[in-house]
Amino acid sequence: MSVRSALPGVDCSTNKVSAPLTPPLLGASLAELTAWVQQQGQPAYRGKQLHEWIYHKQVRSLAEISVFPKQWRAEIANTAIGRSTIHYRCVAGDGTVKYLLRLADGYIIETVGIPTPKRLTVCVSTQVGCPMGCDFCATGKGGYKRNLGRHEIIDQVLTVQQDFQQRVSHVVFMGMGEPLLNTDNVLGAIKSLNQDVGIGQRCITVSTVGIRDRIRKFAQYQLQVTLAVSLHAPNQSLREKLIPSARSYPLELLLAECREYVELTGRRVTFEYILLAGVNDFPEQAAELAQRLRRFQSHVNLIPYNPISEADYKRPWSDRIAAFVKVLKQNHIAVSVRYSRGLEANAACGQLRASKE
Ligand code: SAH
Ligand code: SF4
Repeated sequence: MSVRSALPGVDCSTNKVSAPLTPPLLGASLAELTAWVQQQGQPAYRGKQLHEWIYHKQVRSLAEISVFPKQWRAEIANTAIGRSTIHYRCVAGDGTVKYLLRLADGYIIETVGIPTPKRLTVCVSTQVGCPMGCDFCATGKGGYKRNLGRHEIIDQVLTVQQDFQQRVSHVVFMGMGEPLLNTDNVLGAIKSLNQDVGIGQRCITVSTVGIRDRIRKFAQYQLQVTLAVSLHAPNQSLREKLIPSARSYPLELLLAECREYVELTGRRVTFEYILLAGVNDFPEQAAELAQRLRRFQSHVNLIPYNPISEADYKRPWSDRIAAFVKVLKQNHIAVSVRYSRGLEANAACGQLRASKE
């Protein structure tokens, strides 16, 4: 099954539209947009124009599409494309930009643009808040409001692209929310980011804390995206102290699903592991982690903890981080350390929170 078949309303084998498109338009394919313009009594080629103007010229209102006939433009001027507005924008010293975006219903979400010399990465949110309540995460501490629609996920990428005046090359689903609690919209957004916006699937990473049966389901779409699983502990007893949902979804089951993912997709899994001083950063814990991931096609991404006001964890000193890395390497585990960007703008991993005006 391909990601195309995940999209409601489109018969992907023929690319025919099987159900009428209802705005917001972002997330709709060329075929869906073409059917939509034809329903409005317009010729099919207007669908291609509409696709170009919403995804590449990134208009915020259909009234801006100057190639459309004036009268029709006036008629469709209020049709929602699905764009948010920038409520607040903050640039960190390292060039990372944090945005607070206002959605149509007034909720505010966070998005981060992360530039490096060769890349522009967007860290997108998938929910307003998050219901998982992880102990070290500002989003989790702030509660949960609702899932984002696929248009609201795509809009975050277009907003950063427009603001930087530069093509977005990478997208990481590591903002507010748990992507696998919003699987349909996340799959719809990935499909559109790939086919309509032009971002390679291999340049997309989906991060999850793990939801029972959802990794297996996700694997069935045979995507080329990277799956990152937030592990954070080498054993069940510590993991369930940090991540409440781990109590009902034990580590062994999570790892078994990850193994199935590797078998089904042929792609390795990245394991994310926050380093919390004195909690999960002992060399013995590195050895235990290595033991657990033995014979697993994986990569461990260590994330030194980013402080949040609601929790009193500490980031380990660098010698402690180096010692943890050393043990993993000695045990032949591929490992990298991710020093978060945008710290002073509160835009780093785990520092994002939702609000409403
Ligand atoms: N809900 C998903 C994706 C969003 S969180 C998940 O949990 O994977 C993205 C990443 O940021 C996760 O690996 C998460 O554990 C990490 N994170 C959360 N709070 C953090 C903090 N205070 N410091 C560093 N990383 C944090
Ligand atoms: Fe939700 Fe991820 Fe934060 Fe946990 S770490 S509360 S799953 S956003």
